[in-house]
Amino acid sequence: MSKANKPTSLLELFPEETREAADLLKQAVPHMVRHDIPPNPVHYALWYSYCQGNEPELQRRLDKIVKDFDAFPPESAVKLYREFIIRGELDEARQGQQQVIELVDDIEGNVARSVAGSQAYQASLEQGLNALYDPLIDDLPDVLHDLQESTQLMQHQQEQFLSRLQAAQAEIQNLRNQLERAQLAATLDGLTQVFNRHSFSRLLEQALANDPRGIALIIMDIDYFKQFNDQFGHPLGDRVLQHFGQMLRETLPPRAMAARYGGEEFCVVMRDCHDLQQAMQHAELLRQKIQALRVKVRSTDKVLDTITASFGVALAVPGDNLESLLTRADDALYQAKRGGRNQVQPSPSTPALTG
Ligand code: GH3
Ligand code: MG
Ligand code: MG
Repeated sequence: MSKANKPTSLLELFPEETREAADLLKQAVPHMVRHDIPPNPVHYALWYSYCQGNEPELQRRLDKIVKDFDAFPPESAVKLYREFIIRGELDEARQGQQQVIELVDDIEGNVARSVAGSQAYQASLEQGLNALYDPLIDDLPDVLHDLQESTQLMQHQQEQFLSRLQAAQAEIQNLRNQLERAQLAATLDGLTQVFNRHSFSRLLEQALANDPRGIALIIMDIDYFKQFNDQFGHPLGDRVLQHFGQMLRETLPPRAMAARYGGEEFCVVMRDCHDLQQAMQHAELLRQKIQALRVKVRSTDKVLDTITASFGVALAVPGDNLESLLTRADDALYQAKRGGRNQVQPSPSTPALTG
């Protein structure tokens, strides 16, 4: 390579204006992120040059490395840096070559996945600069000065990049939280904050398909609720439903789930329940708690009404699916209604009872 077409300093290698440089850096960063390449000055310089497009051979070599290694070995980075980024200086400064090589080799040791890595690189440059203070080639200090300047520039860019990364991380975390809240909201019933019918059906179906053993279903329906609404109004009816949901959530056994199946119909799915009596006991507890609810006038504390509900309970058996289990629990609920309401009835066809 002749001196005429060879760059004499790093700043000549990277002559872009700030805006152009920023654009190139913006292109470089995704490459580095895609190939999990740590953000340090050497890597920035290489991928910056890659995007700059003036070095087809460097582009080819970088493409090959990331393809062959599926990563970016530090020794390859230093080799390419030496070959393509500071080669002019090495050719020129034969006498100082060894020291510059050592200096660059230092980079290899100091390359790290953080700002600390680039600061170490900065320190090693300064050491090298001191060592070469009395150079044999006149323009060597200029070269090193340029090198240091561009390193500072890259370090500054790296700091900005990291702070943007941190900001992006916070934003991603924030978005993730929002998404989780939205996902949760989509599975819950807005009024009562228990699972909605859709999620209930999906979860119970999955659980039954997985292993029906130990699954019990309690289905409950508020008694004469239409009458309650007619007498006290829909908004107060809604508040009763809210209390109902809250009570179900507060009394939920471990691994159980509560859901609003329809208007004033709720379900509790119990797990680890191998005995129908155990599920009946939980239903009985719920029945008593509902009966103990007092609908009062807020200002006077006057009791307006009491609420009761009827319960049907069924235990899942092998071969059960959502529909068959629901049907059995619903039949039991029907019996509870027919039997006078405000009571718990087991599914008559539940094998645990009959056999
Ligand atoms: P039963 O004892 O036989 O269950 O009598 P019921 O009146 O509760 O039964 P029915 O199915 O005839 O009526 C259910 C009522 O539940 C109808 C409706 O007024 C009320 N309801 C359903 N969804 C809501 C709701 O979201 N808010 C309020 N306030 N009421 C609701
Ligand atoms: Mg009903
Ligand atoms: Mg009802």
